[in-house]
Amino acid sequence: MELQVYNTLTRKKEIFKPINPPHVGMYVCGPTVYGDAHLGHARPGITFDIVFRYLKFLGYKVRYVRNITDVGHLENDADEGEDKIAKKARLEQVEPMEIAQFYTKRYLDAMDLLNVLRPSIQPSASGHIIEQIDIVKKILDAGYAYVSGGNVYFDVLKYHNDTHKYGILSNRVIEDMLQTTRELDGQKEKHNPADFALWKKAEPEHIMRWPSPWSDGFPGWHLECTAMSAKYLGDKFDIHGGGLDLLFPHHESEIAQSVCAFGHEPTNYWIHNNMITIAGQKMGKSLGNFITLEELFNGTHKLLEKAYSPMTIRFFILQAHYRSTLDFSNEALTAAEKGLKRLLEAQRNINNITPSNNAAELDIKALINNCKEAMDDDFNTPIVISNLFEAASIINKIIDGKEKINSEGLEDLKALFNNYLVDILGIKDEQTSNMMPTIEGLVKMILDVRQEARMNKDWAKSDQLRDKLAEIGVKIKDSKDGVSWSLD
Ligand code: ZN
Repeated sequence: MELQVYNTLTRKKEIFKPINPPHVGMYVCGPTVYGDAHLGHARPGITFDIVFRYLKFLGYKVRYVRNITDVGHLENDADEGEDKIAKKARLEQVEPMEIAQFYTKRYLDAMDLLNVLRPSIQPSASGHIIEQIDIVKKILDAGYAYVSGGNVYFDVLKYHNDTHKYGILSNRVIEDMLQTTRELDGQKEKHNPADFALWKKAEPEHIMRWPSPWSDGFPGWHLECTAMSAKYLGDKFDIHGGGLDLLFPHHESEIAQSVCAFGHEPTNYWIHNNMITIAGQKMGKSLGNFITLEELFNGTHKLLEKAYSPMTIRFFILQAHYRSTLDFSNEALTAAEKGLKRLLEAQRNINNITPSNNAAELDIKALINNCKEAMDDDFNTPIVISNLFEAASIINKIIDGKEKINSEGLEDLKALFNNYLVDILGIKDEQTSNMMPTIEGLVKMILDVRQEARMNKDWAKSDQLRDKLAEIGVKIKDSKDGVSWSLD
């Protein structure tokens, strides 16, 4: 079976065909770095990590670009209000770049804990001002933007009337967008309320500013993704991803910008992850349910009954398909924690299974096949997980002596868990990885005692220690260079 992905633009599943196989270019909208990473960051981080991991598993060479928005982004609307990073910098009396770098580091630390692989390139908006100015020029030259009071605006109506459709991705109707009656900053300079800023003139108190042909100012938010994706992936690339909240106006505007600057849409497949809710409510600072990842890992938010490990969060997110909404609650997280524990115990137990040669064949290959088909069907991780649970039941039966497995079946079990749980779902065994320093210390201590026994020619004690270690899965090897050990 071939990989099929759901394309938000065409609203159907399509067979994935990269432009230049085996290379795949994927661009995903990254975080705006003026505050700590929260639950809303975990889902896109993990969703596109799965896409990244699975494409690599299929043998593609993926260049994954995820940007850092450190300038110009104003939540909900690219044109209005004060720059969040500049505002925080003013309040804390530091350079805006200090804020951006501080929160970039914290964001990456949180993603590392969630075992989200780092993208191939993480460009920042402030490092690509020249490229953004260049695209503004291209759009002006094409006749789809106008200069007004030192600002440059994209002419949405002209673009829409010239056979392009503004609203093609989000399915919004232009008439509704034009009839917005909100009286907001900058509206007097615009030809139309739906027009969006490509370049904004900076007010005198605005710290983040760059020279441009139109004014000292800063780029509009939608522009950075068009500029950075084109720079690193070319002006036509395979996958553009992000959260569903970015569909409009951000991604809609990215399409319009690319069409005007390059003559075509930027990407072949638009992939969007759905939103999360907390106990049935939208997450928001004003609702008091705004939970950062750090609070989740430490259990310090008042809505949390306990701490949840990063792998519990990851596993919980993967138990839902990325296009479904996902509701966080203590009950659901506790259930995910239990489920994950069961899978990891089964995985550890694989090492305790001895194959029996005359055992009837257990159909592990069918489970592997189911997992492959599920991933090929638009990255259906919940189905993968249900097949892993089935494998876990088989492992438990073998351990309890109610079932036998031959050596080929055992190898299949190992491959199933290594490929699907570890490599593709990206689940790591926090218990063993957290315990590793302790285990190493203990083994070293025992080996020192054994060495002492050998010096005293107490061979019986030396052998006894070696056998006891072997019993608990620590294999030791004596050679003339000394003693080495490995976990069985
Ligand atoms: Zn973006």
